[in-house]
Amino acid sequence: MQSHTEGQLVTDRAGDILHEIVSLCQSYDLPVVDDRPARIKISYGIGTIQLAPVANGISIDIGAGSESNGFMLREFVATQVEAFDAALVDGLHWADTPLAGNLPPNFRVGQVVSVTEEGALFQRLVLRAPDLAPFARDGLHLRLALPQPSRAPVWPRVDDKGRTRWPADEDALHVAVYTIRDVNPATGEMVIDAFRHGGSGPTCTWLHHARPRDPIGLIGPGGGWLPEARHLTLAGDETAFPAIFRILESASAATGGTVLLEAEDAALIPDVHLPQGFALRRLSREKGESLEAGLRSTDLGPEGDRHVWFAAEKTRATAMRGELRGERGLSKDETHVAAYWSAFS
Ligand SMILES: Cc1cc2nc3c(=O)[nH]c(=O)nc-3n(C[C@H](O)[C@H](O)[C@H](O)COP(=O)(O)OP(=O)(O)OC[C@H]3O[C@@H](n4cnc5c(N)ncnc54)[C@H](O)[C@@H]3O)c2cc1C
Repeated sequence: MQSHTEGQLVTDRAGDILHEIVSLCQSYDLPVVDDRPARIKISYGIGTIQLAPVANGISIDIGAGSESNGFMLREFVATQVEAFDAALVDGLHWADTPLAGNLPPNFRVGQVVSVTEEGALFQRLVLRAPDLAPFARDGLHLRLALPQPSRAPVWPRVDDKGRTRWPADEDALHVAVYTIRDVNPATGEMVIDAFRHGGSGPTCTWLHHARPRDPIGLIGPGGGWLPEARHLTLAGDETAFPAIFRILESASAATGGTVLLEAEDAALIPDVHLPQGFALRRLSREKGESLEAGLRSTDLGPEGDRHVWFAAEKTRATAMRGELRGERGLSKDETHVAAYWSAFS
């Protein structure tokens, strides 16, 4: 189902807001066409957002492949406006808000099927939820929304302005981004592998205590898809293994390249389904090995038909983005460099 939404932000700071949004898109590597002062156009995999200055603010035009994706793009705009100045959100108006009182269209309530140990490094969550087809089609990731333990969950609702109202205080949900390791819309089941890294974070703790049939919220799918090129270089720390394994499982027979997996102790890295044409390097942080050093001695493939996919801690991702596009001479289209977690949050 195609979705088209129009809206308007009433403000006298249109120029500053558009400037901020362009900068943000650039820092996240989102394709943005900057035709200011006429308009800016942001192209996501799931749809497009056009923002144009008008007499009393900014006009907003969103096109997406589904109501759920359209809603996610609405939320993107609202979040950016809020980040710029929370008071401005009241000036955001959508032409239609048919969903008031409902769950947001990109939100599903699922149930835990099981949580098991997956090797030494991961907890494997299998969950069941309705209508998982978009999660098999529109994005590699989702956000889990975890209710407070031992409280009846309170889920988000759409308000009369078309925005998601999240439960707060003791009902607040813990939200964290994960990769869809596997999904089967026919059985309604999805698999997530969560890295344990000592096991003390909020998601790790929630999973540790989870029992079959516990309720769990799913937001998404959101962003990212399988990289396409004949020569792939895939590099990541433990949090990126699920995405790398999924990319490898989906790689066509004509694709080859190098996979670099980094863990504290490389002996604990799970077995990898390695298609023909790929070489694997397991790197141990405890021995001083790193993705960065590994990549410096890796052939990244021929210009024009290569792609380097990198995900790790934020500071490392930022430095790697600069290195690949600087010293190594790769174009933006030939790289996907993502911060998967932050050592400073
Ligand atoms: C697009 C995307 C996809 C992701 N996919 C996955 C995935 O499939 N599996 C997965 O495990 N993570 C994944 N991550 C990373 C995950 O979102 C973060 O680790 C996040 O912090 C987990 O939420 P949490 O803090 O509730 O989790 P918890 O795991 O309970 O706690 C995480 C805590 O540990 C820290 N931490 C995270 N990774 C490490 C590490 N390697 N070494 C030391 N400390 C660490 C975090 O800063 C945080 O404080 C993904 C991130 C993104 C952006």
